[in-house]
Amino acid sequence: MNTDSQGSARGRRAFLGLGVAAVPVATQVPGPRAGAPGDLPRTAEQALRRLRAGNRRYAEVHAEHPHESRQWRRAVAVAQHPFAVVLGCIDSRVPPELVFDQGLGDLLVIRTAGHVLDEAVLGSVQYSVEELGVPLVVVLGHERCGAVTAAVAHVRDGGRVHGHLARVVDAIAPAARASRFRPGDWVDNAVRTHIARVGAQVAGDPTVGRAAVVGARFDLDTGRVRFRRP
Ligand SMILES: [Zn+2]
Repeated sequence: MNTDSQGSARGRRAFLGLGVAAVPVATQVPGPRAGAPGDLPRTAEQALRRLRAGNRRYAEVHAEHPHESRQWRRAVAVAQHPFAVVLGCIDSRVPPELVFDQGLGDLLVIRTAGHVLDEAVLGSVQYSVEELGVPLVVVLGHERCGAVTAAVAHVRDGGRVHGHLARVVDAIAPAARASRFRPGDWVDNAVRTHIARVGAQVAGDPTVGRAAVVGARFDLDTGRVRFRRP
């Protein structure tokens, strides 16, 4: 974890890294999961396993496109039991349902440019955790993110960003600044730093409750998602 994200990590929840073992034991959420299908992931660890398996299928071009049948549609029309929240970027190449090979009723998906946070995003996470009992929140960034590239350009060249986009760039700029003089590709370093920062901010929010928060980076070239240490 870099110092930047350490600074914003507060509260009792840790922003989890690679190790599934690091997922808190107390992630089983009673109540909203009652009546859910038997094979539903009920803990953050089980949810992560499901996502990893789905992404493996996607990356290997063996996607099963589960949970799209007429019968399944009828079942989820009356009750949903999603097992993870994915906060991702709007990028057209990174739709969470596809890259994790999940179907209807499986994921709650929140997408903003560069997966930046605002009150509506945090409220959506809170709803997912409190009302639906979702045990896992994934912050999904990706390679060659346009929003991160814009923030890096802004930090490098200065100048005024016009309109609403200024808010997006401002939210990513701290990650761009923090990764400026690191070895390697500036944009890619900023992507990783920004994932860690957003993850720490979500994990530090008191409304996230007992849900585990993990960071993840999607590789556009290989189709693989790596869950990452912040
Ligand atoms: Zn992006």
